[in-house]
Amino acid sequence: MYLKNIEVQGFKSFANKIRFDFHNGITGIVGPNGSGKSNVADAVRWVLGEQRVKQLRGGTMQDVIFSGTENRRPLSYASVAITLDNSDHQLPVDYGEVTVTRKLYRSGESEYLINGTACRLKDINEMFYDTGIGKEGYSIIGQGQIDRILSGKPEERRELFDEAAGIVKYKRRKNLSIKKLEEERLNLTRVNDILKELE
Ligand code: ATP
Repeated sequence: MYLKNIEVQGFKSFANKIRFDFHNGITGIVGPNGSGKSNVADAVRWVLGEQRVKQLRGGTMQDVIFSGTENRRPLSYASVAITLDNSDHQLPVDYGEVTVTRKLYRSGESEYLINGTACRLKDINEMFYDTGIGKEGYSIIGQGQIDRILSGKPEERRELFDEAAGIVKYKRRKNLSIKKLEEERLNLTRVNDILKELE
């Protein structure tokens, strides 16, 4: 699996629709300070479901929408789509190519799509579990992140190893089952109480 391209429109400094094509190897993005290099990484983080505005270097989520320049009016929405080559089927879907899209309107309305079909953020998160690609994955290493990993809490470091070992989805399923079991236990107690009252 590898990143084939990123298409952005109205996202941060990219007012016009623009597509970055990548190949199965190393790609460097170079440019003067403030030209938008980090905005490309922010776009990838955002389309993968990043909800923390601080991680996107903004104050509110709407800050990712092109805010205009002297010569150009602000835009009403931001859209980012990334296409991944999935011919090795590392992503648990039948498609050989997967496009994930996220759109956000100034009104606050937003949408996520997988290969053009509307989906929930949860579906995107689940698709990327244990691939290292999700918003919490280690495939996007931001400035200062290495420091945070090295000096972070052992539990936080453990999360990274869990993701690399491919056991995050099993842990989540286990936690969900434990939660359901606990709910059922409470239901059972309630039923027993009612039965006792009836006796
Ligand atoms: P450096 O090399 O200094 O780290 P960079 O090439 O990584 O810079 P970015 O941080 O990606 O640059 O881009 C910053 C630019 O993006 C700034 O000029 C800023 O005005 C612009 N920008 C950020 N958000 C928006 C937005 N919502 N609308 C328009 N422009 C934006």
